[in-house]
Amino acid sequence: MKPFKVRLRFHGDLSVFLGSEAGDVIERRLAEKTSIKDVIESCGVPHPEVDLILIDEQTVGFDHTLTTDTTVEVFPVRNRGTNRTEKRLQTVGIARFVADGHLGGLTRNLRLLGFDVAYPKNADDRELLDVMARENRALLTRDRHLLMHGIVQHGYCPRSQNADEQTIEVVRRFDLSELIAPFARCVRCNAPLEEAAKADVIDKLEPLTKIYYEQFRRCPGCKQIYWSGSHFPKLQKRIEAIRSRVRGKA
Ligand SMILES: [Zn+2]
Repeated sequence: MKPFKVRLRFHGDLSVFLGSEAGDVIERRLAEKTSIKDVIESCGVPHPEVDLILIDEQTVGFDHTLTTDTTVEVFPVRNRGTNRTEKRLQTVGIARFVADGHLGGLTRNLRLLGFDVAYPKNADDRELLDVMARENRALLTRDRHLLMHGIVQHGYCPRSQNADEQTIEVVRRFDLSELIAPFARCVRCNAPLEEAAKADVIDKLEPLTKIYYEQFRRCPGCKQIYWSGSHFPKLQKRIEAIRSRVRGKA
């Protein structure tokens, strides 16, 4: 087979996955038939981050094979500026996740917003992928090689190291702002909270809590009791801050 050249231009923030000196265009010389997915991932960009691929103004899927000189335009989910709605490769609206062990802050934040996030302790890559596939969850990890695994369908690599920023990224990426339901889920163990009568929890409360609060929720998983105590306004403020950042697109 005659060697050929593929020129890939990465749009939006996909350049974060490329080498720092690379800019947003990468050229690859190939000598054999190669899938577009493999060429894109060879540049460092995991396939779950790619939402649209254009060749000669036509959308193509991951299984498209390259055999001759080609220019490829690659777009992330957050960059739907091309106004093309056909053949998007990613799904939004997914609200079930599994997070790797480095994303504890993000996990707590997403649970606080009501989202279902599995966070298996001390899980290795294999176990994370198992939970993802078995429970039909999107994978959250900053390990891009894990995200490139062939069985990953939906996933996201948080760009920031800061948990609040990561939370905003995930809500935007999966378009979840309408689904936020604060204080519906246990931040410790992920179980949905249940209403609890004061009489049922009173023997577990501190004296002042007994006096000042009437409404309680209980986690059926770890038995943690929740009420709108002194920490509550602070949490609400954080949730509002996240919401307005998501809305503001800033
Ligand atoms: Zn719990």
